[in-house]
Amino acid sequence: MLYDKIAIITGGASGIGKATAAEFLTEGAEVVIADLDEDQGETVAEELDCKFVRTDVAEYEQVEELVESTVEKHGRLDIMVNNAGIGSETSIQEMDLEEWHQVIQVDLDSVMHGMKAALPHLDESDGCIVNTASIYGLVGGKGAASYSAAKGGVVNLTQQVAIDYADEGVRVNSVCPGFVDTPMTEDLLETERFYTFLETHTPMDRPAQPEEISSMITFLASEKASYMTGANVPVDGGWTAH
Ligand code: NAD
Repeated sequence: MLYDKIAIITGGASGIGKATAAEFLTEGAEVVIADLDEDQGETVAEELDCKFVRTDVAEYEQVEELVESTVEKHGRLDIMVNNAGIGSETSIQEMDLEEWHQVIQVDLDSVMHGMKAALPHLDESDGCIVNTASIYGLVGGKGAASYSAAKGGVVNLTQQVAIDYADEGVRVNSVCPGFVDTPMTEDLLETERFYTFLETHTPMDRPAQPEEISSMITFLASEKASYMTGANVPVDGGWTAH
């Protein structure tokens, strides 16, 4: 499905990003994973047999360097997956400004950085972008002020960039996962109170596995989604339908 495609996946050292890297490689893509966590990134790159570039996605210069070094090595870029992110469950009253800015930088600015750096190259290759948003970008979530604001920004930015680049042949979509069993949520999912909250809101009564999200990212990145752009696709066990 992705034979010979050159892909960058941010946050590729863990969870959804790692599962996406594994699936892209199975589908025949050449993959570069980018992550802040150098040890984990090197370990995963060795395990999956792909390249790792340490990158802080909150810093535009580092994302630009990631994209430029990938294009220099492979000659082009076909797929940019802006997936790296951090969680936050703090309400606006409890949050200090430092936390607000950090979540906005890592969860929203990073997506703008990835798109801005990749678009000139995707333009040339008729490539595509897949962003990882969240159900919290589509509906509210209790006590997740900065995270919801950031993910809502990702949803709207996805639509906007999709419109702006549609006639240049670049498709831009996002996936909006419900709760996924990854290192980001493992502490939460271990508490009975949270698991009850999740079951109450999820008709399917369970969190997703990372592979249930990466399969949608792979589909959106493939030619099978050739008429899809500007879509923010919930993969949420029914959460947003509830
Ligand atoms: P994860 O913690 O397993 O993976 C996130 C990865 O992003 C980590 O490897 C981490 O080192 C990396 N990262 C964090 N800050 C970074 C930075 N500044 N620069 C580069 N890399 C950085 O989490 P995950 O669940 O796989 O999350 C992936 C994406 O999915 C995130 O955008 C998250 O918001 C989104 N998401 C997750 C869930 C969930 O329930 N797990 C639900 C909806 C959306």
